[in-house]
Amino acid sequence: MQNKSIRTLNKIALISTPWPLYSRPSIQLGTLKAFLDARMPELQIDTFHFYLQLAETIGYRIYHEISERTWLAESIYAALLYPGRSQQAEALFRKESSGKAKLRNVEFKTLTRRIKKVTDAFIRSQNWQAYGLLGFSISLCQLTSALYVIKRLKKDFPELMVVVGGALTPGIAAPDILKTFPDINAVVAGEGELPLYKIIQNLRRTPPDPDESTIQGLFTRQTDSMRPARAVFAQLKALDELPAPDYDDYFNLLKTFEPRKRFFPTLPVETSRGCWWKRAVGSAQVTGCAFCNLNLQWDGYRSKTAAQVVAEIDHLTNRHQTLSVAMMDNVLPQKDAIDIFTQIAKLNKDLRLFGEVRAATPLRELTAMRACGMREVQIGIEALSSNLLKKLHKGTTAIQNLEIMKNCEALGIRNISNLILQFPGSNEQDVAETLRALEFALPFYPLKAVSFWLGLESPVWQQPKKFGIQVVFNHPNWSYLFPDKIYRSLPFLIQAYRGDLTFQRKIWKPVKKKISDWQHQYAEIQRDPGDAPILSLRDGRDFIIIRQRRFRAEPTVHRLVGVSRQIYLFCQRHRPIKSICSTFTDIPDDSIVRFLKMMVDKKLMFTEKNKYLSLAVPVK
Ligand code: SF4
Repeated sequence: MQNKSIRTLNKIALISTPWPLYSRPSIQLGTLKAFLDARMPELQIDTFHFYLQLAETIGYRIYHEISERTWLAESIYAALLYPGRSQQAEALFRKESSGKAKLRNVEFKTLTRRIKKVTDAFIRSQNWQAYGLLGFSISLCQLTSALYVIKRLKKDFPELMVVVGGALTPGIAAPDILKTFPDINAVVAGEGELPLYKIIQNLRRTPPDPDESTIQGLFTRQTDSMRPARAVFAQLKALDELPAPDYDDYFNLLKTFEPRKRFFPTLPVETSRGCWWKRAVGSAQVTGCAFCNLNLQWDGYRSKTAAQVVAEIDHLTNRHQTLSVAMMDNVLPQKDAIDIFTQIAKLNKDLRLFGEVRAATPLRELTAMRACGMREVQIGIEALSSNLLKKLHKGTTAIQNLEIMKNCEALGIRNISNLILQFPGSNEQDVAETLRALEFALPFYPLKAVSFWLGLESPVWQQPKKFGIQVVFNHPNWSYLFPDKIYRSLPFLIQAYRGDLTFQRKIWKPVKKKISDWQHQYAEIQRDPGDAPILSLRDGRDFIIIRQRRFRAEPTVHRLVGVSRQIYLFCQRHRPIKSICSTFTDIPDDSIVRFLKMMVDKKLMFTEKNKYLSLAVPVK
């Protein structure tokens, strides 16, 4: 594998090809660069955010629209990778872009020609021969673009050593990737820091060990293809070995753009790797959420200390003078959350944060998040039926989901979460429960309906029979992008299945419609951003006033006095009936039940399984 340039290895290149979000530097590149630089300061590490360059050239609006959908993104470079099959790629692009207003006037052939020009210019822009190693980070939407760039580079510089890694090159696919794409020399399974470090160390040895298959975490052509991916994982024991990511190259590139094309990027940071919820149920047959394959790159769960997270945020925002930060964790840490957010608040910076949280996140934690600048969260809501949530292994209930939706509304945190439709094995009861819960969710920021997709190595994929799936295979859309032989042999991240899909599509139709109505109505009622929540509550000490704003109708106002007020406030967090009755002992149980029923009938409270939740959002 070694060649002349490798023997004099003193610089490497790390490349991220289209289509990640253009407004953020690559956390993969930034973290790898900082890690390798700390261990090998004499090595020159250049990171290339080629996706930003492309976005600037084709226009941010079009780039963003394409980058939002895997099939749109992958189809463009597929047409360049396999010019003889460009018609199929175009057909997929057309199918997937129909209904997207911003892409209505986009002509596929013209766009791909333009993208080819920019990509070829990028390839010609460097003397790649000077780099002893080229590392490609291949995550969602980056497969065909990375393969195209690699193919073109290898054509001009056949001796280059190319190493790939990322979510789209999981260990399970590594032997086939190497078999299918001869231009790739090695595939990293799992996280890249240690394997890359070891490869570089080996290449700098004289003479290098020609058999790199002994490097843990790495697949090469010499690796035994039967070796299970997890067996070769090589990951850091603790994340405190990671310095703050180095995003200088991204910002330097941005500075070269003409002023009207510059913007204030969002800084990605990670506080953990893996998922503590998945770890918590690690001994069960199905671990973590049934649909999730977000953790293929990591074994177990590791998190940074609060001090390390805060120092990184402080350092990055100081260095790049921008205040938007995206916490990239699959799910934010549970244990040190309050500590992390309290310390971030002490930075005294008007940050704008984004993070992903579980639905069981308590109000005090959300409050601490809001206080330090959390403006937007993605919550693992996924369903509004407790029956379905059980099948999804979410470990949460519908009443918890409504509670966190209400809390976000109260704190002014934008909740951009999904509702999964058509999950295999879901039934009419799940749909009926969802439709009922949706009636109560209408005052809160609407969820986005997403149809279930099958992820490679997700629990559903691993145990399809348990979910009524007969057979799993590569998603047919890949057959538009890759030649038949590759489509049939390479395991792709997005899979498809044969099972109850026709039934699922039919039963979830009314939910789809209801969500679309909800989005429309919420937008209309909350047209003015200064408007009070749709269902709000003001406390008058001995009474409360609940105001219920309605779609194209006058608001309804309710007044609750004395014990009614107290019970309503007591249920601001969901309470079992037993606890309500044992708290208000002066009131007969049947009177309490009658009152609660009346509140539920008016959609002022939600109930399930003898638990009650007040829905009105307190306002001052
Ligand atoms: S969906 Fe989120 S909470 Fe569930 S297993 Fe995946 S990362 Fe963990």
